[in-house]
Amino acid sequence: MPYRAPVSDYEFMLRHVVGFDDVAGTDRFAEASEDMVSAILSEAGRLCEEVMAPLQRNGDLHPARLENGVVRTSPGFAEGWKAIADGGWIGISAPQDFGGMGLPVTLLTAVNEMMSGACLSLELAPLMSMGQIEALEHHASDELKRLYLPKLISGEWAGTMNLTEPQAGSDVGALSTKAEPNGDGTYAISGQKIYISWGDNDFTGNVCHLVLARLPDGVPGTKGISLFVVPKYLPDDAGNPGQANTLKVVSLEHKMGLHGSPTCVMQYDGATGWLVGEPHGGMKAMFTMMNNARLGVGGQGVGVAEGAYQHALAYAQERKQGRPAEGSSGSIADHADVRRMLMTMKADVFAARSILLACAVAIDMQNATGQADWAARAALLTPIAKVCGTETGMEVADTGMQVHGGMGFIEETGAAQYYRDVRVTAIYEGTNGIQAMDLVGRKMMDGGEAAAALIEEIQSQAEQARAKLPDLAEAVWQASETLRETTEWLAGQKDMNDRFAGAVPYLHAFGRVLGGHYHLAAALADPGGARECLARYYIRRLLPEHTGLLAQAQIGAEGLFGLSLEELAA
Ligand SMILES: Cc1cc2nc3c(=O)[nH]c(=O)nc-3n(C[C@H](O)[C@H](O)[C@H](O)COP(=O)(O)OP(=O)(O)OC[C@H]3O[C@@H](n4cnc5c(N)ncnc54)[C@H](O)[C@@H]3O)c2cc1C
Repeated sequence: MPYRAPVSDYEFMLRHVVGFDDVAGTDRFAEASEDMVSAILSEAGRLCEEVMAPLQRNGDLHPARLENGVVRTSPGFAEGWKAIADGGWIGISAPQDFGGMGLPVTLLTAVNEMMSGACLSLELAPLMSMGQIEALEHHASDELKRLYLPKLISGEWAGTMNLTEPQAGSDVGALSTKAEPNGDGTYAISGQKIYISWGDNDFTGNVCHLVLARLPDGVPGTKGISLFVVPKYLPDDAGNPGQANTLKVVSLEHKMGLHGSPTCVMQYDGATGWLVGEPHGGMKAMFTMMNNARLGVGGQGVGVAEGAYQHALAYAQERKQGRPAEGSSGSIADHADVRRMLMTMKADVFAARSILLACAVAIDMQNATGQADWAARAALLTPIAKVCGTETGMEVADTGMQVHGGMGFIEETGAAQYYRDVRVTAIYEGTNGIQAMDLVGRKMMDGGEAAAALIEEIQSQAEQARAKLPDLAEAVWQASETLRETTEWLAGQKDMNDRFAGAVPYLHAFGRVLGGHYHLAAALADPGGARECLARYYIRRLLPEHTGLLAQAQIGAEGLFGLSLEELAA
């Protein structure tokens, strides 16, 4: 089933739903005119449709493998990487001084989403490089920037991120990888990292690892962690890959999906590395990379949801079962329950994509204006975008299999691959549970101010919409009012377990309300049209879920620990 890049959807949403005009109106992004945005999206869409989508099944059927310590990638992936690199897509938002395009993160987000819908396991490779580019841009010395950035941006070299160790997953501060000064400005890195995405490949001249490790005087926990760039080949005097560094891929993980992406166990044996940022300042630098990656992973979920939806719709239109009602096509797409599934998929993809883009717009506005309220908005929306994007990816892929009936469970249709591939997005880059805790914890340290400001905007839009769409406007206003009450309740809880217990339902409810808000904006821009019809479906049928979710969030930790572990096991 060919993938069709949702370019026109993006154009509509940028213009009418998420306020991209604000970004294009800044001096920094003044060149992002409508024409130029259309050209970028169309060109990226072509790459996704013609080059990447045909590789999707290759990755699944011919997984990356380890041969004599070297990763051999799936057929066609080397050519796919080259096409991505040659198009300049790795450096779309990277600094122009080093060969990037310097375009808004909003466009990068759209491009990443489309690439994920076309071929998730290959898209993860440039995503890793993009995160590394951003971390080096903000934290590395000028010398490191001059050496690494042009090669990472051009795709001549690739980047990875190395946080996880067997005993240090969500608890990054528990890591034990060591960094000893060599006395010449470099460091000897020793330890094992697990689950490293694209830890090696056979198509770039070098693979540069960003590694978290502890200096000899580093205190336990996250405060004692430093960041290092550790290349597979040590650059020679001319900056070309020279002697092999003392690091290796020990093995590749056997995974449920995402087979085209090699997930590596890495061993560092006194490997030479260079400090990025301040000693013991590793988490600050890593956060730069992780924030970028969290938005990117949210986009992976939305991209897969789009692909799975297109797949299911095409199947539903062809498959004939049951007696056709008068005037019906005779396909299963005309059965009420199948239509419910298709409408839900489409409405949810729109909602999750809107949240993703709104987060990207806030990041661009923060970068362009330096204003604290945009920074707070971006910080608030990042965990919501990650979770809503990835949960939508999983749910839509799951529903897509259901639309296929038995054929959804049979691998040859490709419907199950979407589900297997996307499942990890809720786990990596900080599990969705950890994201929700971030939302009700760190992101509410302001007493819920950033959340309140966003809810106020939702309410004022709903007020304005009352004249044209009174029923939809009222539903969105009421939902946001319940969200406001729960937000105030949560922000007032001193016992963090009372917040954390309801963090996930609260985040889902926030996502539902935001979805209503953006659907309402789309309906206002398309009165009586398909956008209004979809908004009506979402607001009447899906938005009401917020009530049950927020009720759960307000129970706090009461009863959660009521059963002992023994009783749980009984
Ligand atoms: C395919 C794949 C690719 C990956 N790529 C990379 C990569 O490129 N680089 C990298 O560094 N890592 C990578 N990872 C690792 C990934 O980021 C971790 O798996 C993830 O952070 C979770 O850590 P963990 O697996 O140790 O789970 P754990 O931390 O053991 O978590 C288990 C469960 O406990 C919950 N939990 C843990 N701590 C808390 C807490 N304090 N409060 C509440 N709940 C908690 C979690 O939410 C989860 O539900 C990858 C993983 C996979 C599977």
